[in-house]
Amino acid sequence: MRVGILGGGQLGRMIALAGHPLGVTCTVLDPADDCCAAQVCRHIRGDFDGDYAALYELVQASDVITYEFENVPVETARWLAERLPVYPPPRALEVCQDRVTEKSFLQSLGVPTPPFAAVETRGEFDAALADIGLPAVLKTRRFGYDGKGQAVLRTPADAEAAWERLSGRPLILEGFVGFDRELSLIAVRDAAGDMVTYPLIENWHVEGILHRSLAPAAGVSDELYELAVTHAERILAELNYVGVLTVEWFQRGDELLVNELAPRVHNSGHWTIEAAETSQFENHLRAVCGYPLGCAAATRHAAMYNFIGRIPAVAHVLGEPNAHLHRYGKADRPGRKVGHVTVCDAEPPELTRLDGEFARD
Ligand code: AMP
Repeated sequence: MRVGILGGGQLGRMIALAGHPLGVTCTVLDPADDCCAAQVCRHIRGDFDGDYAALYELVQASDVITYEFENVPVETARWLAERLPVYPPPRALEVCQDRVTEKSFLQSLGVPTPPFAAVETRGEFDAALADIGLPAVLKTRRFGYDGKGQAVLRTPADAEAAWERLSGRPLILEGFVGFDRELSLIAVRDAAGDMVTYPLIENWHVEGILHRSLAPAAGVSDELYELAVTHAERILAELNYVGVLTVEWFQRGDELLVNELAPRVHNSGHWTIEAAETSQFENHLRAVCGYPLGCAAATRHAAMYNFIGRIPAVAHVLGEPNAHLHRYGKADRPGRKVGHVTVCDAEPPELTRLDGEFARD
């Protein structure tokens, strides 16, 4: 099978690497000459928006098309879908690209989210503040990632400052959730509607960027896992989804609220390469290629640390027993994800001792 991937970042790179043993050949489309997936598979240089010569070349090189980031223009995905199967379906992009559309969709399915309101004018902002109250979070509806384009409002002065900074584009005001922890669920669905789910993952963000994931998350009751899986099943079925979808949750007691959906493989699932029976990348390929899905059970415990800005000394990382280093082949740059390490262990509690070892910049 030949898989075309929109986007040539580290997620595309890890999908392509997972394809090699299966004989699945990937081609990425990306505007950057030096996109990091180009080091491991064929790269077509082109824009995602309206570059039909490049898109046509991708069609010629592929049997099925997928994507590694959620800001692919929906028009592009629809254009491609007239020519080849596109998985996940373009509707998933449409729903997930806009935080208000996404939360309204979840609400329509009975899946809990923080309280929210669409905000465009000052009047709507004031009304939303009065309704939702402080603390709250003001975010751009579109193109926000890794905590960019958002502000936490604790006081009326914060609200003024955030309005100054973010107004002028469509926004969402969300109630601030005093969560116990953040979890994610990675689910994979095939075209026949069969779904497998990985164990819940516990994620720790620093300044809006994922710093560490622990998997399987400790202290997850059967009821909590069932709740996450039931909601995910509803979401994937409604979208007629094929591929990996990640649900990011806030856990508050025995309650789960969705923070956001990612219609793609996810940073919090990198540990599945070494510590699950089948990695998220392989399972995504299996789903989009129409192959049977692989078992998603964890084979051991794992802690995954992102390297932001720079990679620590390689010998230092590899000196840690059961450490698996992934360098993305990107130049160092502040705030950029340039690699990660997954440390595996038979025992869970020891893993957080590495927090000091692999601190970010
Ligand atoms: P996001 O880009 O929406 O995933 O937000 C990045 C991070 O900001 C999340 O992982 C949370 O740690 C925090 N955050 C976002 N929205 C909220 C919220 N409504 N309540 C509390 N924390 C939030």
